[in-house]
Amino acid sequence: MLLDRRSFLIAAGAFPLLAQQAGFPWPSGKRGALSFTFDDARVSQIDLGIPLLNRLGMKATFYVSPRGFRQRVDGWKEAIAAGHEIGHHTDSHPCTVNYRFSRDNALEDYTLERMEADIAKATAEIVDTLGVRPVSFAYPCGQTFVGVGANQRSYVPLIAKHFRSGRGYLNESANDPERCDLSYLMGTHCDGFSGDELLGLVDAAMKENRWLVFAGHDFGDPARQTTSMKAIEAVWEYARNPANGVWVDTVATVSEFLVNARSR
Ligand SMILES: [Zn+2]
Repeated sequence: MLLDRRSFLIAAGAFPLLAQQAGFPWPSGKRGALSFTFDDARVSQIDLGIPLLNRLGMKATFYVSPRGFRQRVDGWKEAIAAGHEIGHHTDSHPCTVNYRFSRDNALEDYTLERMEADIAKATAEIVDTLGVRPVSFAYPCGQTFVGVGANQRSYVPLIAKHFRSGRGYLNESANDPERCDLSYLMGTHCDGFSGDELLGLVDAAMKENRWLVFAGHDFGDPARQTTSMKAIEAVWEYARNPANGVWVDTVATVSEFLVNARSR
């Protein structure tokens, strides 16, 4: 039996490629996007992470809090000059009362007004000290509420008011470029994993033409709250090969692209 061209391509396994081309209009040749993001302005990000990323030629997003970046101000200025993005992570890093470290600064005790003031305080210090105004935000501990019970409120609308995007944490999906809420992006935990484990997540996201946002903390050997530097190198080796169609960029750049693509 003779096959027409489309049937032949399906039989030859080429149909997924056609489906990708008909999907979301990522930049030419790209199947999806990948952003590496790191929280808290920890010193290992300056001492180990930025030098690694600069050597690889890879840009990342760093969600900083003043108490973190004050320890390496010159290093953060150099990171900005090298093209990395400075995102926002509040001033006092409030999380749920159930975490011991935030018992005295718990989201359960916050109001939207108090949260907005905390965010404004950090913005002022970031602008004064680092000379940039963040457009990307990461929710401390990935938590998006203030208050309790009937008086609990989401502060996602506050983030939508002040930033282009807000990133969650410990989420289990990459982002749908057509429909995802930029004010609550899914953040996929990348601390403690091997290169193969991270590559499995990247591959699954690219197959669905999605935007995978990795969320980590320290740089070093893989551990709790530490992203493996070897794993980052393995992902970069894969992503830098144009044949794999991975667009690696900061959250600010990818989110701006999505805003423009959706408005067309
Ligand atoms: Zn944090």
